[in-house]
Amino acid sequence: MELLDLEYQLVDMNEDDRVIVIQNNMVILNHDREFLKCTEVEGKVQYLFVYDGVKYFLGNDVTEMDNCIRMSVTDIRNMMSYEYAMMISVAMQLARFYEANQYCGKCGSKMQVADNERAMVCECGNRAYPKVAPATITAIIDRATDSILLTKGIHMKDPNSFGLVAGFVEAGETFEECVYREVKEEVNLKIKNLKYYANQPWGFGDNIMIAFTAELDGSNEFVVQESELKKVWWQKRQDIMPVDRPLSVGHKMVQAFRRGEI
Ligand SMILES: [Zn+2]
Repeated sequence: MELLDLEYQLVDMNEDDRVIVIQNNMVILNHDREFLKCTEVEGKVQYLFVYDGVKYFLGNDVTEMDNCIRMSVTDIRNMMSYEYAMMISVAMQLARFYEANQYCGKCGSKMQVADNERAMVCECGNRAYPKVAPATITAIIDRATDSILLTKGIHMKDPNSFGLVAGFVEAGETFEECVYREVKEEVNLKIKNLKYYANQPWGFGDNIMIAFTAELDGSNEFVVQESELKKVWWQKRQDIMPVDRPLSVGHKMVQAFRRGEI
């Protein structure tokens, strides 16, 4: 997202700046359905980023004016623009970072906001940075049946939602090793021709998704890891519905397969 400038700066808020407020998974917007203006809040704020020339601050401890609109994060993800969703994703990730690092994990003292980078610092020398946990996500394609392997995680409530084989990178593991391990654990299939596809920050869960494509190698009979997945199936190319969810690299890969691009 080329308009988003995440470089950290130590600046005070001025009248043209905007404040992103997220409380209990609800985003607070003003009556124009915009992020709040600095004149519409009172309280302590924390610098976030510049988007399209405008500075944004995090204002989760502020008191907002009356007549504000509350929208759930899920609604914003589904209804509003990619840019809005990404800004909220980053804001939520940084909000969790500042909240979780008020006290030093080494000595227990109160941490301070660093003035030269996005970090929390302690007088004992400890520095904490925003957590970004890498996870791989893999589109497994069976060329023989022209199908892609879809999954439904045990926590997915929406009957129409689905995923791909995915999981967190373990300490000491390469992205590719992670893919092979996750494919074995979740569906016990053999794959070949593993290829990097793209990556996608996913601040809603402090993640970055590293996406791969792979081809089935041998039998297409899978064994489902029931502690993670409630359903796994091969979806034929012609049965994939066109959808536009640009925030999800998994959906992007499924749509790329539908169009014959992968
Ligand atoms: Zn400390």
